[in-house]
Amino acid sequence: MRKTVFVDMIPDLSEVMAPTHEKYRSKRNLALAEMVTQDGSSWTERSCPACRSATPVRRFSQAIIPFGKCASCGTIFARKLPSQAMLDGRRLADQPDHDKDEEVGAHAARSIQFTSLTNWMRLTAARHSRTIGKVLDYRFSTNAAGWPFAARASGVANKWYFSSVRSPEDQGALEQLARELQEFLPDTVTIFSELDRFSDPSALLQLIKENTKSGAWIFIAAACADGLEYELLGADSPSFIPLDRLNLFSLSGLTDLAVDIGYDVIEVATPGRLDAVILQQYYNLLHDETTPFWPKFFRDADKDTLQNFQIFLQRSLRSGVLRLVMRHP
Ligand SMILES: [Zn+2]
Repeated sequence: MRKTVFVDMIPDLSEVMAPTHEKYRSKRNLALAEMVTQDGSSWTERSCPACRSATPVRRFSQAIIPFGKCASCGTIFARKLPSQAMLDGRRLADQPDHDKDEEVGAHAARSIQFTSLTNWMRLTAARHSRTIGKVLDYRFSTNAAGWPFAARASGVANKWYFSSVRSPEDQGALEQLARELQEFLPDTVTIFSELDRFSDPSALLQLIKENTKSGAWIFIAAACADGLEYELLGADSPSFIPLDRLNLFSLSGLTDLAVDIGYDVIEVATPGRLDAVILQQYYNLLHDETTPFWPKFFRDADKDTLQNFQIFLQRSLRSGVLRLVMRHP
């Protein structure tokens, strides 16, 4: 299994905790609070979505709904969930077409993200002397209106199909995906930022395996519980938006889950660019001295130090974003 490092430039502080991000975070937290109040009785308890371990779960957050950290694999997860239909219905209701992208970040930051994803796919395919033909993208375009255009324009694949969140009254999420996979017959599936939000990620990965051919590749990008940001800031981390982070996999938790389902894991990486900048901003704004080393380290760090530290986090697989490539054997 290959471990990849992505050396990108450190972004400007304005990219982190932008007013649009804070507005989006507040809106999603309000949506979650409303869902709990309206229909909390139908929510179900669950164990670790990665290893389903029965070992004790450490408390991660009690805000709005309880989140735990699996003592066995380190995955962070919501311990109570509504149905996928309820999650999908709320997601559609909260996303009017005209401001999808404005809500989740500045346009420039999104373009960088799209290019980074397509470059990753292109380089991975080239490393393995593989051509990417037909890609089914799972739901990323629901929150990233510019993604279909950017993906097609990149030329990384011959053909794309963008599966999006539909009204849960039409069809269940998994039934919809099974039909789309059978009709489109992709050789590659992309799951970007969606494992984090799905109520049963194991069932999702299982269904993709059952409905793709041997040799199909799956590219996953997700938030990563191993990130230093989550280790130091916990649920205070600005990236932790509970409704969008129902599952925060650890790299080992997700890798073991993929292997259990029967995939070959080809490549893992934690290519996050923002951990160091987020931590510096946090410690500049707040005087939290419970771990005195880190506040001083980040307050004193210049741009070179931050960049070197971010590269160190990527090399040691301790950044807050993970990428994983797996293959249907
Ligand atoms: Zn676990």
